[in-house]
Amino acid sequence: MYSLKNTTKCTFVGSGFIEILDFEDKEFYTFENLKDFKFNLPAGKFKVVSGNFTEIPFSQRNFIKLPKRERFLKIPKTLKIVKRENPMKAVIYKSEGLIYVDPSIFELPQFCFDFLKYHELGHYYYSTESYCDLFAASKMLAKGYNPSQIYYGLELLCSDSVNTPEMDKRIDIIFNHTKNGTI
Ligand SMILES: [Zn+2]
Repeated sequence: MYSLKNTTKCTFVGSGFIEILDFEDKEFYTFENLKDFKFNLPAGKFKVVSGNFTEIPFSQRNFIKLPKRERFLKIPKTLKIVKRENPMKAVIYKSEGLIYVDPSIFELPQFCFDFLKYHELGHYYYSTESYCDLFAASKMLAKGYNPSQIYYGLELLCSDSVNTPEMDKRIDIIFNHTKNGTI
């Protein structure tokens, strides 16, 4: 195992089995059995458990076409995130720029937290939940996340709640927009 510090988002090309943890030892990115495949990592500190890969110039290969904005709310300069018990996982007070996030979210991998944060930010643009998910996915890809992390992030966020038909539909939409969660 060795440390990897990305001062900026990066693209890598690698093969074999790749396993990367974040610096709190939570899972971050795992992939296997592909030759010369490209993946991205956002800026940050990571621990490489396994993998043979080299850095190449950053390129974002996956893009999401966003729906037309439904809302034109003023976005505050900073968003404040506060830990607070919340059965809905997170809620945003848009005019204050305040997001209450349930403590359980901080136990999950970083990509879950980022998905949630960007989803809430999406509510400045959209009222439809699945559009906020697409907004979050688009932000995450631009930040250096991989499609599979977006899909898996939403799945983990939903895993302990009762699956409603609306939730299933949201998961399906993200599945279809992230190369079926495969890369
Ligand atoms: Zn929402």
